[in-house]
Amino acid sequence: MKKYLLLFTLLIIGFSLFSQKKHQLSLVGGIDTSKVDIKSVYELFNNYLNDTPDSIHFKTNPYWDRDEVNDYLSKGMPYFDESAGLMYRSLSAEEHWSFYEPKILAIEQVDSNLYTIKTLYYNETYSKDSVYGCWNPPYITKHYCERQGGKYFLKNAITYETQYWNKYQYEMLHYLVHPSLKFNSKQAEEALKFIKKTCSQYNLPIPKRIDYYCTGTREELAKLFNFSYLLSYMNGVSSKYLSRIIIKDDNFSHIHELSHIIFNHPKWRKNSRPLIVNEGLATFLGGADGKKSFSENLKEWAEELRQVDTLTLDDIIENKYRHLTDNNPIYVTGAYIFKLVYRQHQEEGVIKLFNCGKEIADFKIVIENLFDMPYDTFKVWILEKIKEE
Ligand SMILES: [Zn+2]
Repeated sequence: MKKYLLLFTLLIIGFSLFSQKKHQLSLVGGIDTSKVDIKSVYELFNNYLNDTPDSIHFKTNPYWDRDEVNDYLSKGMPYFDESAGLMYRSLSAEEHWSFYEPKILAIEQVDSNLYTIKTLYYNETYSKDSVYGCWNPPYITKHYCERQGGKYFLKNAITYETQYWNKYQYEMLHYLVHPSLKFNSKQAEEALKFIKKTCSQYNLPIPKRIDYYCTGTREELAKLFNFSYLLSYMNGVSSKYLSRIIIKDDNFSHIHELSHIIFNHPKWRKNSRPLIVNEGLATFLGGADGKKSFSENLKEWAEELRQVDTLTLDDIIENKYRHLTDNNPIYVTGAYIFKLVYRQHQEEGVIKLFNCGKEIADFKIVIENLFDMPYDTFKVWILEKIKEE
């Protein structure tokens, strides 16, 4: 009996080893894995990438710093690796590996217990393609690995990358500013005023703390998300879960991004909302990009709309019509809808539209209700109204 049990156990082990297709990360020349620490960091990262880094199944994962995992997940974040949100948005980790094959570029020692690991994602075949070649490589990641009690654990870059940045506090606003930027206290006061005024106007709780990062360049911004190179165009990113704003410019009163944070109420459903609603509200209150006001954005968008007569609201909502380096078509159209809703139904209408539901179908129902017309009529009428601006 014992003999059969042993055979059965061996078969199970053999099968599970066989069924798990394990990849082996390749390295560029010059990385000395005969050194114990370099090898440990390499193996840690190799195991991490092999164990579904696109999933949160491993709440007890053995690779990442425990406190960081608990902190991110307890705040409602769907992941704890800052780069995961961007990397696994449209491709799974497995698809990623087969499409953009990762390759270790460097494993560098920062101090006695700290290393960084840089990984290039690259598709050799597509690099020669006339269209896809320019989307390649999409990024180089840079993760930190810290030794704790003889073992290495992965950590996000944000705390390390900002440790020598300048810090300023204005009540709940905690600024972390890249040393190349000059802080503007007047703008910080304006930001504070906006938060208090808007929270009182819409009956929203004032956040206890908002972390506000100004990075100065896109490269510095990407570093805070565990990238040492990033192809995507990112100027500002806010996270409601982390109550955190990260922006490129030296704008210490970025009303658009602040709106994303403060429009939050414990009584509201947590589910997401269509892009036109989420960005429409932030643009209505603070303009599309933190540089121009909403009324300036609207003037430009009206002018453009008058030129492209065949455009439909569906084209805008489905992102079929878009600009290369900004999202103004959908942002400003959404903002204009909020402007009309506010004019007719004030704060109550704005909150109703903001909480319309998750899908475009939910948005359409609320629009019909607020504008008292069939959606098919609304979608033509609203673009005509914008053109009149
Ligand atoms: Zn936004």
